[in-house]
Amino acid sequence: MNLVFSPPPSVTVPVAGSNDAFPVRRIYCVGRNYAAHAREMGFDPDREPPFFFCKPADAIVYVAPGTTGQFPYPAQTENCHYEMELVAAIGLGGRDIAPDDALEHVFGYALGLDMTRRDLQMEMRKMGRPWDIGKAFDHSAPIGPIHRAAQIGHPLQGTIWLEVNGQTVQRADIAQLIWPVAETVAYLSHFFELVPGDLIYTGTPEGVGPVIKGDTMHGGIEGLGEFRLDVV
Ligand code: MN
Repeated sequence: MNLVFSPPPSVTVPVAGSNDAFPVRRIYCVGRNYAAHAREMGFDPDREPPFFFCKPADAIVYVAPGTTGQFPYPAQTENCHYEMELVAAIGLGGRDIAPDDALEHVFGYALGLDMTRRDLQMEMRKMGRPWDIGKAFDHSAPIGPIHRAAQIGHPLQGTIWLEVNGQTVQRADIAQLIWPVAETVAYLSHFFELVPGDLIYTGTPEGVGPVIKGDTMHGGIEGLGEFRLDVV
């Protein structure tokens, strides 16, 4: 049988310090995973179970170290927000993974931004509708290179920060994750069979806010370097 058109190119993210690339299958995102961010979004952060939403794999925008990436300002919004996040990359699949085994399933870690059309997300939230138009739009998932856990270990603490136009807007520690990576992987694996190639954006700390065309975002996580993107 012939394909009726050429399939889209596969989405990959380079692996730091090598010529290897990580093929992306799915992008899962965790909502409200830092207490102070849950509060700023109007919720009581009493360690309710984590909740998830997805972005399409082709929402990835790869930003190479030492370069300035481009985030195209999305259509249909007047309030597009940054959310700086730690990304965990799954290298070993499984379901019903135990928290104690979960980190064995993580291939590595990257810097990520969960870009959000906040006005649309809030409208959908209010109406009890899915968040897709607020979260899962094109170019909504900037990411840096994936650092192998075999090389850097599993970061359990370290500063996560973001500057917009040189001003610090987010600054916290990944140790403040309500659901750390191991527990997030374990919990998610009860709902979906995890497969190598899955990415998990683990949630953003407090300080989210808008960007406009012309802004520069510059973020990092201790041990994972930094990245920079212009809003175009
Ligand atoms: Mn997020």
